[in-house]
Amino acid sequence: MADRGSEGSDRRRIGVYVCHCGGNISDVVDVEAVAARAGADEDVVVAWHLQFMCSDEGQSTIEQDVRELGLDRVVVAACTPSLHETTFRRVVARAGLNPYLYQHANIREQVSWAHVHDQAAATEKAARLVEAAIAKAALLRELDEVRVDAVHRTLVVGGGVAGLRAALDLARWGMPVVLVERSNELGGHVLRLGRTYPTDEPGRALIERLVSQVRDEPLVEVRLSTEVCQVTGYVGDFHVGLRAVREETDGHPCDEEVEVGAIVVATGFRDHEPARGRYGFGHPRVVTLADYQRRLYAAEGEADPARALGIDGPVRAIAFLHCVGSRQVEGVDEPGASGRLNTYCSRVCCTATVRAAAETRRRFPAVRVVDVYRDIRTYARDQEQEYRRAGEAGVVFVRVPTDERATVEPAPREDPYPLLVRTRDTLTFGAELEVPVDLVVLATAMEPGPVEDLVAMTKAPTGADGFLLEVHPKLRPVESAIPGILLAGTARGPMDIAESTTSASAAAAKVATLLAGDQVEMEPFVARVDLSRCRGSGECVATCPYPGAVGLQDVELDEGVVVPRAYVNPVACKGCGACVAVCPNGAVDVQGWEMSQYLAMVDAITADPAGFPRAIDPSEVTTG
Ligand SMILES: Cc1cc2nc3c(=O)[nH]c(=O)nc-3n(C[C@H](O)[C@H](O)[C@H](O)COP(=O)(O)OP(=O)(O)OC[C@H]3O[C@@H](n4cnc5c(N)ncnc54)[C@H](O)[C@@H]3O)c2cc1C
Repeated sequence: MADRGSEGSDRRRIGVYVCHCGGNISDVVDVEAVAARAGADEDVVVAWHLQFMCSDEGQSTIEQDVRELGLDRVVVAACTPSLHETTFRRVVARAGLNPYLYQHANIREQVSWAHVHDQAAATEKAARLVEAAIAKAALLRELDEVRVDAVHRTLVVGGGVAGLRAALDLARWGMPVVLVERSNELGGHVLRLGRTYPTDEPGRALIERLVSQVRDEPLVEVRLSTEVCQVTGYVGDFHVGLRAVREETDGHPCDEEVEVGAIVVATGFRDHEPARGRYGFGHPRVVTLADYQRRLYAAEGEADPARALGIDGPVRAIAFLHCVGSRQVEGVDEPGASGRLNTYCSRVCCTATVRAAAETRRRFPAVRVVDVYRDIRTYARDQEQEYRRAGEAGVVFVRVPTDERATVEPAPREDPYPLLVRTRDTLTFGAELEVPVDLVVLATAMEPGPVEDLVAMTKAPTGADGFLLEVHPKLRPVESAIPGILLAGTARGPMDIAESTTSASAAAAKVATLLAGDQVEMEPFVARVDLSRCRGSGECVATCPYPGAVGLQDVELDEGVVVPRAYVNPVACKGCGACVAVCPNGAVDVQGWEMSQYLAMVDAITADPAGFPRAIDPSEVTTG
């Protein structure tokens, strides 16, 4: 058993609070039994169960107990810690305790929601998780947040609609911004989109408005044809190397360095490029949706479809193909250059495609339009009517079975049409169709932008889909796992313009809050070296993925002998624990998650396997 650090009468004074979550937990878990079992622990002074621990009543109960019963540790068993751990740390701090003398047990997501149909087992699991939390709580130490002086400047990487929005918002919060764009103009994909839903405003007009606002903003410094070549430092004080984009950048050094407190990554997406021949890609009469939209918009007054679309020959029939490179299925689709299948939906293309199809019918009523899809999701407010309008405009919809793909082939020379689209249609009970057309428009997927270099420099993680990954899709959707690195727009996944600018504004607001004070505060869950055990093997340094987080320094021993010993730079350390795993002398631990604490939890969870319900006398403890 791990030593709990409390011997004889000098025991811990732990308060345990079990939440009903208004029935979310107590409908499955016997919370009274869990509280009673927790109360039987020698270190537990009080164990309550309450309807809502996060309510005013719940919070003031904890505060009062800490003060009146002299609690020195608090455990709350409730919903996921990502919802309320911070809430309860604050309660504990208000009561005068160090906020890190608090331990959370998740008995909702991990218990009552996961084991709805086995109440006895759920209660047993909840009791063991609470016992583990008590065991860990007994070993918790007081910790202090890591603080670092904040540089009041932000780097925005990517000058598309998301980067522009983030830069503008930050400047309006009073924050100086360096906006770095790799290409030689601002605007990203939107600049070339033609008319965009839902407002019908041309992409170029929208971007020009935004760019002129950014240009008028003295706090924003725009750097075109520039890229990031090095990132060191940490939240509050990043040192970022910049260099001019050249044909050949290998070996080309960084030109200059900027110091910033936070980085907003708004590097956008890349258009999927189908393999040559797939869906007829490469044939001059097969174009992408973005290209088609551009052509439609460039010749808005032109009534002749061939002249408007820049096609050499008559345009009598057009086929639009959805989901080209999106919602790919193993065994049906081929992985692209990344080696991955894009299993996700690109979200934007359905609406953009049905709008383009409908506009084609309205502008060129003699042109037949076929829309070939697997599923249509014109999501977002008022967008369903785009689908309806397309039908009313005479667009013919053909639905392909989910595990089949339409094919596009050049028609035989004698055919009047240059291309043949072949497919089956589930709307007509699987009829085999052969559609002769003059033009095919491919609604290609939005793929992750080229962020490999930034990922290598910042260590911001990507998801299995290759897009940059947020900490939590609902609760922390614009934060990367690296403190001070925020995500805006389609760098995080397919989004339309409204969603991209919303996430950009959210990222800007996060930065403004983060850098509002003179210092940035970070959680203290970072590595710590026990110098009495360290032998300077350097394995921690070799393993650490975060530059500058762990190093070796000379330490003078009593006898005047100088030896290398490990040290941790707490502001660069991310608390990943890689150093803990490789240290041959057990000299490194992550504060708040020490090995002894893990062992105590494991002991508590595995103790007395047949012991529930355990023989305890509830009258021995105070329970509510
Ligand atoms: C065919 C199609 C039609 C669409 N139609 C609509 C529509 O009608 N309505 C709508 O709301 N949305 C539409 N969209 C979606 C819209 O294009 C996106 O929402 C929008 O482009 C997202 O902007 P962004 O800034 O996130 O990314 P992007 O537009 O991709 O901009 C990213 C910018 O970052 C730059 N960059 C990339 N990497 C770096 C780097 N390392 N360093 C510096 N700069 C870098 C790029 O050069 C680019 O300028 C459509 C999308 C497609 C594919």
